[in-house]
Amino acid sequence: MEGGENYTVFNSRTLVDMVGDVTDEALKATKMKQLIGTLGGRFFNWAQRKSLFPLHLGIKCCALEMAAAGGPRFDAERFGVIFRSSPRQCDVMLVNGPISKKFADPIVRLWEQMPEPKWCIAMGECAISGGPYFQSYNILEGVDTVIPVDVYIPGCPPRPEALIDGFGKLREKIIRIGAVPSQERPNDAPIIIGED
Ligand code: SF4
Repeated sequence: MEGGENYTVFNSRTLVDMVGDVTDEALKATKMKQLIGTLGGRFFNWAQRKSLFPLHLGIKCCALEMAAAGGPRFDAERFGVIFRSSPRQCDVMLVNGPISKKFADPIVRLWEQMPEPKWCIAMGECAISGGPYFQSYNILEGVDTVIPVDVYIPGCPPRPEALIDGFGKLREKIIRIGAVPSQERPNDAPIIIGED
C-alpha cells in the first residue's frame, strides 16, 4: 500500500490505544477524569497513611524499644504500624542505631529496594548524629548523610510512646504533602519529635 494507512496492522494494541483515547476524551469532557483523579488520590493517601509498613530492621539498643512498641503493651499495630521483613513490601525505613561505614552501602541498597513513595524515621541519637560514637572513625554522623530523613525522634533510647508519636507525625506529613516521591521533596523540613 503506497502512501496510505496499512490497515492489516490493526491489532489489539491499536484497538486498546484507540479505545483509551476515546475514553480519555469523554472523561475529560465531563470532568469525570478530574473527579476520579481527586477521589483516587485521596483514597490512596488515606490507605497509605493508615497502613505504614516499617522495615523490620534492628541495629542496636533502640531496636529493643522498637520491639516493645510492637509488643502487646504498646501494640503499634492498632495504629496501623505493621513491621515487614522485606524492603519490597515496606514504605518506612526505621533506623534505630549507629550506622557503621561498612553498613552504609547495604542500608542504602535496602532503601533503594523500597518502592516509592517511601519515608525515613531516624530513631535515637545514634541514627540522628552518631550519638556516643559522634566523630568516631567508623560511624556515620547520622543516617541523613546517606538517606533523606523525614522524622527525627531524639532520645537514648526514645521510649515506645515517642516512636508511636513519630509515626503519628509522619501521618500528618503524608496528609500534607501526599504521595510525593522521596527524591522530589529534598527541601521539605523534617519533623523533630519534642520540638514545639
Ligand atoms: S541512641 Fe542510645 S539506646 Fe539508641 S542505639 Fe544509640 S546508644 Fe543505643
